[in-house]
Amino acid sequence: MQSHRLTTYLALILYLAAFSATSVAQRPAIQSSAIPSPKSVLGFTPGDDRTIAGWSQITDYFERLDRASDRVLVQTLGQSTLKRPMIVAFISARENILALPKYKDIQQQLADPRKVTSNLQRDRLFANGKTVVAISCSIHSTEIVASQMSMQLAYELATAQDAETRDILQNTILLLIPSPNPDGIDIVANWYRKTLGTPYEGREPPELYHHYAGHDDNRDWFMLNLKETQLITRLLWHDWFPQIVYDVHQQGSNGSRFFIPPFYDPPNPNISPVLLRQVGLIGHKVAADLQAAGFKGVLTNALYDTWWHGGFRTAPYFHNSIGILSEAASARLMTPSTVTTEQLARSSTRGMRNATEAMTNFPDPWPAGEWRPRDIMNMEMIASRSILEMSSKFRGEYLRNFYELGRKNLEQPPNKGDTIAYLIPAGQARDEAVAKLIGSLIDQGVEVFRLDHELHVVLRQQILQRTNPAAEKLGTYRIGGSLSAMQEVPGGSYIVFLTQPQRYNVVALFEPQIYPNRLTPLGEAERPYDVAGWTLPLQMGVDVPAVVTIRETASERKLTLLKDANEVRADLALALKKGDESPIKNPLKQTVRVGIYKGSMGNMDEGWTRFVFDTFNVPYTSLRDADIRQGKLNSKFDAVLFTSQAATQIINGNAAGTVPAEYTGGIGEPGVKNVKEFVNNGGMLVCFDNACDMAIKEFNLPLRNTLEGVRSSEFYCPGSIVALDVDNKHPIAALLPETLPAYFINSSAFTAAADANVRVIARYAKENVLLSGWLLGEDKLRGQIALAEVGVGKGRIVLFGFRPQHRGQSWATLPLIWNTLSSATTASSE
Ligand SMILES: [Zn+2]
Repeated sequence: MQSHRLTTYLALILYLAAFSATSVAQRPAIQSSAIPSPKSVLGFTPGDDRTIAGWSQITDYFERLDRASDRVLVQTLGQSTLKRPMIVAFISARENILALPKYKDIQQQLADPRKVTSNLQRDRLFANGKTVVAISCSIHSTEIVASQMSMQLAYELATAQDAETRDILQNTILLLIPSPNPDGIDIVANWYRKTLGTPYEGREPPELYHHYAGHDDNRDWFMLNLKETQLITRLLWHDWFPQIVYDVHQQGSNGSRFFIPPFYDPPNPNISPVLLRQVGLIGHKVAADLQAAGFKGVLTNALYDTWWHGGFRTAPYFHNSIGILSEAASARLMTPSTVTTEQLARSSTRGMRNATEAMTNFPDPWPAGEWRPRDIMNMEMIASRSILEMSSKFRGEYLRNFYELGRKNLEQPPNKGDTIAYLIPAGQARDEAVAKLIGSLIDQGVEVFRLDHELHVVLRQQILQRTNPAAEKLGTYRIGGSLSAMQEVPGGSYIVFLTQPQRYNVVALFEPQIYPNRLTPLGEAERPYDVAGWTLPLQMGVDVPAVVTIRETASERKLTLLKDANEVRADLALALKKGDESPIKNPLKQTVRVGIYKGSMGNMDEGWTRFVFDTFNVPYTSLRDADIRQGKLNSKFDAVLFTSQAATQIINGNAAGTVPAEYTGGIGEPGVKNVKEFVNNGGMLVCFDNACDMAIKEFNLPLRNTLEGVRSSEFYCPGSIVALDVDNKHPIAALLPETLPAYFINSSAFTAAADANVRVIARYAKENVLLSGWLLGEDKLRGQIALAEVGVGKGRIVLFGFRPQHRGQSWATLPLIWNTLSSATTASSE
């Protein structure tokens, strides 16, 4: 990666040097006539109706631009999950492009004020630095237009000669990412071409557009499970530290035409108000420029919030940078759509009553009609341009704010008893989870130290406490936990100090979240944009107490700063990571033939399950609908796993007429019969969350999901971490602690009929159920069954009410999956 960039850079210098002996700075600019337009290469202008450029066309265009323009330098970052090249185009004035290493060095000093030793040095950085801006297109591949737009944007910046563009190029360095999910661009482009001119033109492909994550490829920015997230995190938060990141998306077709910040409530309390205000300022500039250009239907202050941590545009806040999101209304991939006034009138979100009614944050509703990819592209081009103009005009301010936020984060917490660090004590018996946790932190630039010698500390377990236990339904919480006595922590433990530039990344990942109770006037829960809680050590089942006092002075401590995850793996005597191979040893105790159901509808929970199995090197076969319809499952499998999916989707699949015939249908009634036969003959059926529904109904199990049909005014838990009471005498929970954090996302809870033949393995805790996030109506969850095993015929069914592998993040509950499968070949325990 690095060497390729340097090679390209050297090649460029040699290329320029070959023409003349005069210094590089005196070379005249390459004539723009020599620079190929997207149209001349693709045969169409990006954004034209019913045209689409696939990934090789996009990378080919950027390579040509790199060769032809001295304002553009393309770097290959590495390979995507399915081995496509990931690229970034640096776009700036020629002299800046020639001095990229210098500007990268300035950014790294600004990002870590400890590298700045005098005011003179600091002021020189402010004077000489450029605003670094990253624009990322179409991470969600069906939101396809921005990937096409990227070529036009690059071309215009490479060729324009007007004073304003020259200012932008002079003062900013743009890192343009044509797509952080190249595999998905091809999945969508191939599908679009295949269905063009058929009744299915413009529909979304039925498969996941990221091999593992689908749409959740933008839910990974603190966990860094995916190759794509890892490569771009390295580019942005190890190397370049952009002051502004713009993530270009599309939303549904029938609402506002374009959303741009300010965001809606609630804000994440760990985001600096300076950043939130800067986000608003840029958003309003974009909105004003769009209005001035005559575009209607621009919406601000609605739907999208900053609460949750794991998106492309949220990661910047935790690196002291500005994250901007835009969401243009979608066409039908690259096919125009028609939107009616009735559809607009029915479209309603937080902050927008409907898409026909003018409001202060939506002053100019769009009047319905035809909506084309070109409309989307034009709005995204204007937004990109606006952001670059701001970046250029307020260059000094952005650099100063960025530096100052990092500097403030280096100050000691003000009060005695405040958290000063988090400790990851040695000897947790969860070595792979410890290595993954620390590896993810290091990969996103968080500083983690190893204790080479013991320390003496006062600790506090950070737990949620109810402030008013009498308020039954609407829990109110604070972070509490009593202090330990001064205690010795052994060498080999790890410590994460808050005094580091990324202080609030650490806080926002390690502390329990308390989502503010937000209800509609009717008393229903107001849905957050994404999940409400994600506390990383809880999800991973790693004990990470807060440190409030350290007896040893800074000079007495023996600490080593960790450079990469392999150092932790070496400490813990784990196999080292080499290349792309996951070094984790298969945790199954014997060979088990596992089938994972993969239906005709892309299902992210299925994708993440494959991801987790691949990461842990557990072999499996993907079972398609036809395989299940064929039957004879016992001859091929010991266990069949259905990940979270509604029973109707599993049984019926895609409806006829919505996709080409080969993608329609589910397992059907014959499939249901074969699954029953499989269990009755001694097979193990495992169901996650929603899929339990199918098992309960089709097998007539003596269990009932008590949360089915319950209104959100009575119970609501939209992505939170809850406590399980675990029966660790059962083989499936063997060796696990009695209390385990589990991921609950509108999940299930069961009651069993009296004297039913049900072995309960875990229940939701009898008290203090919520560990992080939002839980409305705790009484509905307390003591209910979370994980159970039921004997059926010669076989067994294991029902997980929660998501034991949610987004590849909830490692705390993965041992339950491995233990379940390890027991699949043993006789029923009933
Ligand atoms: Zn999106």
